[in-house]
Amino acid sequence: MSVSKSLIHRLERICGSQSVLSDPDELLVYESDAYPLVRALPGGVVFPLSTEATSQVLKALQDHEVAFVPRGSGTSLAGGCLTGSDAVMVCTSKMKRILEVDLDNECAIVEAGVITQEISDAVAEYGYFYAPDPASQSTCTIGGNVATDAGGPHTLKYGVTGHHVFGLTVVLPCGEVLPLGGRTQTTHGYDLTSVFIGSEGTLGLVTEVTVKLTRPPAAYRTVLAVYDRMDDAGNTVRDIIAAGIVPAALEMMDQAIVQILEDAYAYGFPRDAEAVLVIELDGIEAGLDRQLDRILTICRENRVRSIDDAASAEQRAALWKARKTAFGALGRAAPTCITQDGVVPRSELPHILRFVRQVADKHDLRVASNFHAGDGNIHPNFLFDQRDPRQVEAVQRASHEILAECVRVGGSVTGEHGIGVEKTEALKLMFNDADLAAQRQVKHVFDPTGRANPDKIFA
Ligand SMILES: Cc1cc2nc3c(=O)[nH]c(=O)nc-3n(C[C@H](O)[C@H](O)[C@H](O)COP(=O)(O)OP(=O)(O)OC[C@H]3O[C@@H](n4cnc5c(N)ncnc54)[C@H](O)[C@@H]3O)c2cc1C
Repeated sequence: MSVSKSLIHRLERICGSQSVLSDPDELLVYESDAYPLVRALPGGVVFPLSTEATSQVLKALQDHEVAFVPRGSGTSLAGGCLTGSDAVMVCTSKMKRILEVDLDNECAIVEAGVITQEISDAVAEYGYFYAPDPASQSTCTIGGNVATDAGGPHTLKYGVTGHHVFGLTVVLPCGEVLPLGGRTQTTHGYDLTSVFIGSEGTLGLVTEVTVKLTRPPAAYRTVLAVYDRMDDAGNTVRDIIAAGIVPAALEMMDQAIVQILEDAYAYGFPRDAEAVLVIELDGIEAGLDRQLDRILTICRENRVRSIDDAASAEQRAALWKARKTAFGALGRAAPTCITQDGVVPRSELPHILRFVRQVADKHDLRVASNFHAGDGNIHPNFLFDQRDPRQVEAVQRASHEILAECVRVGGSVTGEHGIGVEKTEALKLMFNDADLAAQRQVKHVFDPTGRANPDKIFA
């Protein structure tokens, strides 16, 4: 079934013909996101310019009994914005206005299509920033971040997107506009803002977000700790947290990713190291050096090979650029890359890192890892060629085995990328039938006709 011409014409009347795509050549751009294994051509793509236009669009889709899939920038690593030919993609990328900066309440109201980094850029002149920093922050949208409850390297100290959202404007699948939350973190009654955070577009479409603004820290200490053994790096992470220190970020890269980064960008990482930790402390100047000394002692107790200081702002920026551009480098290393996303209790890090290697060896797969070690959030990147069905099957089996092990040791099947289409089966590792039925009932309340991002989260 395809989307009717009369619906396309109605969408054009609402948004203008330049904001509706239905030509198959133009739709090709929207057939996939950053999850490479599934492609699907949408029946149409529409770009509303406001909450009011979004409401009219969703009413039109309801009248035509057509499903819709919200999309921000399409950087989903879980196939969250794949759309079939019988559904319309509703893309927020033209809703890019910063509507208000409210310094008295330390918040800003922004449209859903604003690029995450642009929030910090817009408030920097007032001495603030928006703290959540997914590695995709220069590309992804705040609406997509809300829908996936995105994290990032600095989640360890600052928390995920949900911790920085005071309120939302959402449009329900029937077209009704729902203002949720306010300008503070306080909630009264059911916390519906939190229900929408992480719901991956399956309850409705977020059009505006009230985000909390944060004062930047006065000082940083950033070091690169180099290890000959992965186990020692994993034990360092465990011991830093056990010592009661909460770094701003505690990231790990394995040898494979370091070599791929060096091949691509020649940043100067040691190619022969089995693991590298990026450790960052931030806060007021007083006390930072004492915490750093304690961390360096822990690194030495765990046989660190060397510690490099990123003392200047330029060195720090270069180090984070290296970490955050890893995905681009992976694109040069193999025709296809899938980034897995599981969580383990931090004490299980050394175990799960060994497990990932064993599973990759067993399935004869290339794997490279860069991940939020401090959160126990692992990201094994499988490098393969999706034109070879044997390799695709091996990656899917390996992914499932790793996620099952994460759950077995007390973790979860996703840390930040969401369920999308990729993990509908894996979700059953975490929830029983009663849990899943309760979650479906929540969806039914907001989306009784099941037209909001169908086939995501629930298989
Ligand atoms: C290089 C790279 C690095 C990444 N690093 C991180 C990281 O560090 N941390 C992290 O958490 N993720 C990371 N991701 C994953 C991805 O960037 C995040 O999931 C991000 O939040 C998606 O934003 P987006 O605008 O691209 O959303 P999309 O990919 O367009 O959509 C993602 C999901 O949200 C839904 N959605 C989008 N907009 C809305 C809306 N306005 N209302 C309702 N639902 C909506 C979609 O239907 C879909 O289910 C990375 C991805 C890449 C490619």
